[in-house]
Amino acid sequence: MQVNYQNRLNIAHLPTPIEKLERLTRFLGGPEIWVKRDDQTGLAGGGNKTRKLEFLLADAQSIGCDHVVTMGAAQSNHCRQTAAACAKLGMGCSLILREGGSQPKNGNYLLNSILGAYVHWSEKETMTEVAEAVVSQLKSMGRKPYLIPYGGSNVRGASAYVLAMEELNKQLQAQDLFFDHIVLASSSGGTQAGLVLGQIVTKWRGKVYGICVDSSAETFRTQIAALTTATAAHLQIPLETSILDYIHLNDDYIGAGYGVVTETEREAIQLLGQLEGILLDPVYTGRAMGGLIDLIRWGAFTKRQRILFWHTGGMPALFAYADEIKPENC
Ligand SMILES: *Cc1c(COP(=O)(O)O)cnc(C)c1O
Repeated sequence: MQVNYQNRLNIAHLPTPIEKLERLTRFLGGPEIWVKRDDQTGLAGGGNKTRKLEFLLADAQSIGCDHVVTMGAAQSNHCRQTAAACAKLGMGCSLILREGGSQPKNGNYLLNSILGAYVHWSEKETMTEVAEAVVSQLKSMGRKPYLIPYGGSNVRGASAYVLAMEELNKQLQAQDLFFDHIVLASSSGGTQAGLVLGQIVTKWRGKVYGICVDSSAETFRTQIAALTTATAAHLQIPLETSILDYIHLNDDYIGAGYGVVTETEREAIQLLGQLEGILLDPVYTGRAMGGLIDLIRWGAFTKRQRILFWHTGGMPALFAYADEIKPENC
């Protein structure tokens, strides 16, 4: 199937490599584990939002916008990558961050200011309310603002991961490889929605497993299904089967909630660091890899299977969580 992706900028370093995690695989004695390095998409630290921004900012520029407004948690990787993309394109950038006050001023927060973004905190009002106020203020100043939703997860953002699945498919063909499962951290759902749609486009027969970062699987599943359906309509991809059959989620690792580090994340971060020289993040990929490791220990996969962990980035947030994740002898 030939998909017309329409407007897209070229700002990410693509294709991102896929690598076998030899030592982690041996350590766990389980299925073969590989990684897709979307933590290496370039753009001020990389991550999955860079792919989404290629589509979102192409749209912003095509309608003549000159200033981007978006929102996220205090350590949002999406906000940091948006700030970087705006700097590169010469656009203004205003970020609305949640939970002000006592947040550490390092990690992504530091990078936002280096990248020249304006930061607003949402305290009493919701992030959306603050964003709307910032948008109307920019308009009154004669600017043309472009509002990107939380996590960049709309049909344009998700389209990027349909294309990413086509990229993976080419790599699989070139290397004569097959994966039984793709495992990723899922939070605002755009990445998983895109991958699922990409799976339909490329006829890949494995399963895409989202490890929930903050939402319970039940409500999140319908949310991802709705975004997948809307993205299919946007890209004019016909859907013949029920999309819900493709959406696999596990919410066993939400723990105490978004951004709360437990032993699961700590162990995953240290294992990947010490066995593979790969840095995970405390909020998303640490949780997803911790979940994958736990599932392997529980015998959820056979030794013969091959799993692709889609690394979605987030490394700068490590610095804001130093006390929660540093090894004991540090
Ligand atoms: C945003 C983000 C995710 C989640 O992607 P969604 O498309 O929002 O589900 C995963 N990992 C990292 C590092 C992120 O920044």
